[in-house]
Amino acid sequence: MIAENLKKIKSELSEQISLIAVSKTKPVSQILEAYEAGHRDFGENKAQEMTEKWEEMPKDIQWHMIGHLQRNKVKYIAPYVHLIHAVDSLKLLKEINKQAQKNNRIINCLLQVYIAKEETKFGFDPEEITQLLESEEFKNLKHIRIKGLMGMATFTENTAQIEKEFQFLKSFFDQLKNKYGMTELSTGMSGDYPLALQYGSTMVRIGSAIFGERNYT
Ligand SMILES: *Cc1c(COP(=O)(O)O)cnc(C)c1O
Repeated sequence: MIAENLKKIKSELSEQISLIAVSKTKPVSQILEAYEAGHRDFGENKAQEMTEKWEEMPKDIQWHMIGHLQRNKVKYIAPYVHLIHAVDSLKLLKEINKQAQKNNRIINCLLQVYIAKEETKFGFDPEEITQLLESEEFKNLKHIRIKGLMGMATFTENTAQIEKEFQFLKSFFDQLKNKYGMTELSTGMSGDYPLALQYGSTMVRIGSAIFGERNYT
């Protein structure tokens, strides 16, 4: 089932689009099924769970931290994480830089932009991102690389609302990408990825449409 789901979704994506298979809460046996079908990019939202899976799984997997990341957890994932999607503060960025330096690495990051109507979603306002990218403090962080932006639309059936949010994020990304050398726009989940692709997504994060429904998130 997992292999078939992957195949179907990949057939809908053009070659330049990255598919992150969101394996949070799912057992290693299911991740291995996707791995054996040739998939290498997996997304998790908890540092500890991701690290346990990293330890058990083949080492050519690229692990994506897609959830809100607490500063005190950065050290666990810094040795191996491929891309941190949801960076939402300068403090967090500094900690990632520090841990990357300890591990002799440069860690790829995306800045999360706040686009949804819900109060609970994390992220920067667009003005904060521009300020951040221009600040001296930021320019001194030599062990991180900002590859692009990430956003999560409001959880709603209202397609027009979601479109408005994706459109907004795309136009902001288009403003920044050349100036700051950004290449990635991480938007779109099982429920809204076709729409996200229409609005310039380069990376979709898909869980339930690959692995089935989760019992908890
Ligand atoms: C869980 C999660 C996803 C995947 O959600 P699905 O609806 O299962 O595709 C994508 N992005 C983030 C940040 C998530 O936490």
